[in-house]
Order: sequence, then C-alpha cells, then structure tokens
Amino acid sequence: MDRNKYLYVYSNIFFTKGYTRTMVYDCCTQRTLFFENAFYALLDEFRKHKIDSIINKYANVDVLGFAEFLVSNNFASLVNDISLFPTLKKVWFSPNEMENAIIDIDSTSNHNYKKISEELQALHCAHLEIRIFYDADIQKLSNIARHFYKADFKSVDIIVKYKEGINPPDYLQLAAQYPPLSIFVYEAPSDTYHKSLIDTTYHGIGFVCYLKQKIEATTDCGIINRSSFCLPSSISNFTEGILKNKCLNRKLSITVDGQIKNCPCMSKAYGNIRDHSIAEIFRSNEFQKYWDITKDEIRVCKDCEYRYICNDCRAFVTDIYDKPLKCKYNPYKQKWEE
Ligand code: SF4
Repeated sequence: MDRNKYLYVYSNIFFTKGYTRTMVYDCCTQRTLFFENAFYALLDEFRKHKIDSIINKYANVDVLGFAEFLVSNNFASLVNDISLFPTLKKVWFSPNEMENAIIDIDSTSNHNYKKISEELQALHCAHLEIRIFYDADIQKLSNIARHFYKADFKSVDIIVKYKEGINPPDYLQLAAQYPPLSIFVYEAPSDTYHKSLIDTTYHGIGFVCYLKQKIEATTDCGIINRSSFCLPSSISNFTEGILKNKCLNRKLSITVDGQIKNCPCMSKAYGNIRDHSIAEIFRSNEFQKYWDITKDEIRVCKDCEYRYICNDCRAFVTDIYDKPLKCKYNPYKQKWEE
C-alpha cells in the first residue's frame, strides 16, 4: 500500500459506532461488516491526512491493517488529492409527500376506496399496502384493486388470506390486470413465488407470493430481529434512518373501521376517513410529531451499531423515547437474547 496517499472512503459507505463495535454498511451491495471501535477515529483522519502521517500519530493502532481492510472490501481507494472528493451532506428529501399508506380491511369494512385512492394520490403516496384479514375472493379483490389502477403509486401490494380454490394463475391474472399491483397470499400451504405475467423492465410489480406465515392486524408488527432490518439500497434511504423515524416518517394507516393512525399498532387515532380528509390529518403537526424522533434520541438504541438500519417501532414502547419492547438485542453485550 502506498503510504504517501490519502484513503478515500466512498460516499455510499456508512459507519455506525455502537457501544462495543462499529458497523460498516455499503448501500450499493447492502453488505454489513464490523470492526473494533478503536479504529473509528481513523475515519476522520483519512479525510485530512495522508496514511503515512496517520501511522506516525497512532503508534498503537494498526492503521495500515485497517486501511487494507477498507480497500480489500471495496469500501475505499487510495487517492492523490482527497479534496477532489468532498463529503456528502447528510440530508434526506423525497418528492412524495406521503411515502407509504396501509389500508386494513376485514369482512365488515365499508371503505370508500375511490375517495381514499384520490386522497392518497393528491398526497403523491408512493407505496400502498392493502391488508385483507379474510379469504376474499377474486371478485372482491378486483373491486378493490380497480380503484388503485392507472394511478401514480409506485407499488400497490394486496396482502390477503389464502382461499381454497383460488390458484396462483388467478392472482397473477388479477395483478397483470391492475398494475402496479402485486399480491401476497398468507396462511398458504407453502412458501412459493410466482413470476409476474407482465413483461416489464421495472422489477417488483405483478408478482404473486404465497407465504405460510399467519398475518394479523396488530400482533405481527414491531418485532425486531436480524431479518426485520430494512437494508437501505441508496444513500438517501440510509440518511432517512439517521435523520428520521423510518417506521413513521411520511406514513399513514387506515384501520378496518376507517380510523386514521400513524401505524396500525398505535392506539392513537386522529379521526375517521368518513369525517375528515386524509390530507387534513396527515399535514397536522400532531400527526407528524413522531417523524423526527431519531435513533440517536432513543434510550439503548442510541448505543446500538444497527440503529440506522433498524426500523424503530414506536408502537410497542413504555415511553416514546424507550427501546422497542419487541427487540431482544443487547448492544452492551453484543448479544441477541432469546
Ligand atoms: S437495540 Fe434498538 S437499534 Fe438496536 S436492534 Fe434493538 S431496536 Fe434496533
């Protein structure tokens, strides 16, 4: 390694220092690696000094070994002039006033889907999840899906209970009829994936996914484990985790009886869609009060190396600034407790 150079760490690489170790996250490959906190201070030095002078300053730290670790993992390169690579500001912006909406439906729900669809589109809602808590037939699904067709949503996912007699080709046909629809069928006999019938270069729409898993209105939310981490695929996605509450930021949910909430599991309802416009509630300060609570403000989580890729459920907590009750990770012992 040429010690007379600067080490440039790429902008898509993020470091999160926890109590016991630091996590490296690569937004391009969605890869995580860890290193001892003793090396963390070097990251700032790499921005200012050539490797040689850092080695002289940190006699007791394996500077060269750490630089090699970063280069060999494709997190960094050696450069002659570090000033040509300015650091990116940590900002987050989305053109969509609303990022996600959830509509819950049971056999008694009487939602006005046309009105809901129009109101969500007026807020430029990007992603919609429609959760149906009974085994609705194709006609019923079609009656719902048609209201969200030819709209500006990037994705519309229907999550519906398995119904005997409806087969994957039936769901695939429905999804192909109403893009950008995809369908998840839960309590299915097996976990299977069925490729979209739509010939599209835009991945992630039109498919059907069968899941053995049971899904319930509230109990399935808020569980935090290694597989629940949301791995950002862009810099902006990662910075949202630093600057916002990822679970609630620009999100809204409508319960089976039309109550508008931040999340289906939170008890606070802000009004019913029958009596209020979605925008009126969504834009209110009261509704948005959780959006800016960052992970660095949450007890225990602020010391966790996973904090910026962790969704941060605010529904199952004893205090709004407490660690989620359904998380079993102990960042002080670096251990998942069962
Ligand atoms: S301690 Fe907090 S940040 Fe860490 S995994 Fe649990 S909930 Fe996520």
